[in-house]
Amino acid sequence: KNYTKDEIRKIAQDENVQFLRLMFTDISGVIKNVEVPVDQLDKVLDNKVMFDGSSIDGFVRIEESDMYLYPDLNTWMIFPWGSEHGKVARLICRIYNTDGTPFSGDPRNNLIRVLDEMRAAGYTDFNIGPEPEFFLFKLDDKGEPTLQLNDKGSYFDFAPVDLGENCRRDIVLELENMGFEVEASHHEVAPGQHEIDFKYADALAAADDIQTFKLVVKIVARKHGLHATFMPKPLDGINGSGMHMNMSLFHDKGNAFCDNKGEMQLSTEAYYFLAGLLNHARGLTAIANPTVNSYKRLVPGFEAPVYVAWSGKNRSPLVRIPAARGLSTRLELRSVDPTANPYLVIAAMLEAGLDGVRNKIEPRPAVDRNIYRMDEDELKANHITDLPSTLHNALKDLQKDDVLRASLGTHLYQSFMESKRLEWASYRQVVSQWERDQYLELY
Ligand code: ADP
Ligand code: GLU
Ligand code: MG
Ligand code: MG
Repeated sequence: KNYTKDEIRKIAQDENVQFLRLMFTDISGVIKNVEVPVDQLDKVLDNKVMFDGSSIDGFVRIEESDMYLYPDLNTWMIFPWGSEHGKVARLICRIYNTDGTPFSGDPRNNLIRVLDEMRAAGYTDFNIGPEPEFFLFKLDDKGEPTLQLNDKGSYFDFAPVDLGENCRRDIVLELENMGFEVEASHHEVAPGQHEIDFKYADALAAADDIQTFKLVVKIVARKHGLHATFMPKPLDGINGSGMHMNMSLFHDKGNAFCDNKGEMQLSTEAYYFLAGLLNHARGLTAIANPTVNSYKRLVPGFEAPVYVAWSGKNRSPLVRIPAARGLSTRLELRSVDPTANPYLVIAAMLEAGLDGVRNKIEPRPAVDRNIYRMDEDELKANHITDLPSTLHNALKDLQKDDVLRASLGTHLYQSFMESKRLEWASYRQVVSQWERDQYLELY
């Protein structure tokens, strides 16, 4: 919805809004917010609210710490759960420098920049339909998360095994109150694991939706005495949580991936875009799977991708082309997990795909066989490479990929690399229980 400043002032008064949450996302994909009382509304709407950028990971150094928050009026929303002090409304903001230019270290600004480039190339929208998965764990009496699952349910199970169902239903209701169009909600394969899919939207709105979604899921779960986590692999031995990304390019005439006369009813652009995604798949992994834990999900046997391949039939490869055509013609990238910063990963997917379109790259043939049953020679004969197996390897691939580096811009690329290298450096110094179990007595 498009709101004017006056409309927002009126709604804030009529609905007795008491607090405003000005939200933005840091480099790690974590939502940050500055809360101000409603009497600051005029200042907020006039882009006059400042904050200290040096306190945010990956933003700026202390000597240039003053930053401005420019609210995107279209994101005005009153939270349905109110607090005892009155209603709370939020606005998602862009970050600006004191000289009035957009701050290039803001992931949302960067996505807007990349989308402008896409429009200059003749497309109207990059549509994104995410499929976020998450686990629900019980909270202990102190309110701390445990590793105890709250149900024994599995894929599409019905109550009473699925005790998480009430919680999930409440989440769906809150989302609908907030204007989400929930298309599907079901128990996932692992016990305690759930998925809620909402209708696709243009890239910027979709990234905002993903951030709002995660917040709502966590808040509602807490009311049920549960902790919702989007950590990709909280428990080994069972499925992890992904966030498949369905994507399509639109132009004035509709879905640019659809062509009734094309092979498999797909346009040449769809094939070029697909080839771009596959060509940049290894570097893209650093952005789509940005935590140490992400790589514990990308292993064989748990429905997560391990190899770079695509298929129109098989569900397991990195890129799947769902059967739907017409407006729903889309590519589904299955590697992405919910720890990815949605603004960064969507910008990177778009640039990877557009690189394929610009350079008319043809994809390798589809792999409709089970890749996991192929031996080394067959993988090689079919030119199937694997995804990076650790964050460290993924970062090395990102470093080599100029297209993806450009999709982040210099500032974001540098702060992303710096923060992720520190994360890896800290992880590799820890000796795990697995190692003690393996080696302490053997050697
Ligand atoms: P799966 O078969 O992998 O379970 P779902 O049917 O659950 O996939 O998810 C479909 C997702 O794809 C939804 O978020 C839906 O809105 C989205 N989607 C549908 N059409 C398009 C499109 N043209 N572009 C991008 N996303 C789309
Ligand atoms: N949980 C699986 C993953 O890690 C995906 C299951 C599915 O196909 O929905 O990606
Ligand atoms: Mg799923
Ligand atoms: Mg899917």
